[in-house]
Amino acid sequence: MGWIGIDLGGTKIYGVHVGPAGEIRAEAKVKTPPDGPASVVRAISSLISQMGSDDIDGIGLGVPGLIDRDLGLLLKAPNIAGWDSNFPIVEALSAASGGLAVVLENDVNAGTMAEWRLGAGRGTEEMLGVFVGTGIGAGLILEGRLRHGGGGNAGELGHMVVAQGGRPCGCGHRGHVESYAGRACMEAEARRQAAKGRRTELVALAGEKRMTSGVFARALEADDPLAGELIEEAVQALGAGIASAVSLLDVGTVIVGGGLADRLGPGFVSRVGRATIESIFAANDMRVLAAELGDRTGAVGAALVAEAQLAGVRG
Ligand SMILES: [Zn+2]
Repeated sequence: MGWIGIDLGGTKIYGVHVGPAGEIRAEAKVKTPPDGPASVVRAISSLISQMGSDDIDGIGLGVPGLIDRDLGLLLKAPNIAGWDSNFPIVEALSAASGGLAVVLENDVNAGTMAEWRLGAGRGTEEMLGVFVGTGIGAGLILEGRLRHGGGGNAGELGHMVVAQGGRPCGCGHRGHVESYAGRACMEAEARRQAAKGRRTELVALAGEKRMTSGVFARALEADDPLAGELIEEAVQALGAGIASAVSLLDVGTVIVGGGLADRLGPGFVSRVGRATIESIFAANDMRVLAAELGDRTGAVGAALVAEAQLAGVRG
């Protein structure tokens, strides 16, 4: 038995071949082709061949976008160049892989699954996974299963309101967790402040380019006041959002990962943990832990989602 997990990202496609105990038998990656779905499917198919196509029971595909799980469609993928809306990616990938079963999941739910089964959340029944990157993604494990919700969008912690009428969010609304803790929104705020005349290492380091997680880390190391303020606001917004989610759901374990959290390190996650506990009604013995699996999380999780759905194991 073995499962292929694919993490389809805006810049690269990462693949793993995972055995029944969660062991990684092979891994491979390729740049995401810029010219749309047919090329993406070909790239994934060749990635699978590179990892060896023997002993594969199915494929899990984690994608960054809006999906229809029942119909196997990737409806919208704004981060993937040339994506046509409503592309039947499950059918196309299955056909390109000799008829193997393909299970579609969003990348954040896949990451949550990986941290739950093999990472910092293993052994728990209830877990919230929070991924801090360009935006804020989150996934929920409730009663030992990945929770999708009635409309398939459960766990959108990034779009929970923490400041009514507050700063703009990438989704078009205001005052969401992501408005303060998503890297893109933090960059927008830094540039707004710089345009008003505030000097900051953030803009000096990034120039016209993207203000990466590395830029935030270096500005913090240089004691840049604005970087310090923005990170503190991110910590507080994450703490408020996680505390609200925990108060609603009584989830005992929260995992915090993603590009920005990984780059800022365990100190950042500890601060988020303290901000959470300060705002919580009944903390009991809830824990906020750093994610453990790093870059592989999405691909490994996609394989585990396929295993859960096709072989009926936990999840
Ligand atoms: Zn939002």
